[in-house]
Amino acid sequence: MDKQGKLSLADKNKVIENLTKRQQGRTAAPCEMCGTNQWFVADHLLNATIVVPGMGLTVGGPSYPQVQVICGNCGHTRLLNAYAIGLLDPDKPVTADDSGTS
Ligand SMILES: [Zn+2]
Repeated sequence: MDKQGKLSLADKNKVIENLTKRQQGRTAAPCEMCGTNQWFVADHLLNATIVVPGMGLTVGGPSYPQVQVICGNCGHTRLLNAYAIGLLDPDKPVTADDSGTS
């Protein structure tokens, strides 16, 4: 991803490759909202923060980065954990990569 957090084409391809591998030959399930199958990976990750009892909104603490896979027809969005899908490495900090591959 670049300094603004935009995923590169290589990042998006990595997500697609990992999803394809995990689907084990099956096609992607159609959209739950409209029934089409026109998915794309969004340009940015979302970051879901954890809930801590007794605390309001926590900013800057532990979180779960999410890859957005969006239906190109209706906009319904599936969120995938960026670590579980293999885009991020839990043992390495997230850094910008300005290799120009986006
Ligand atoms: Zn849809």
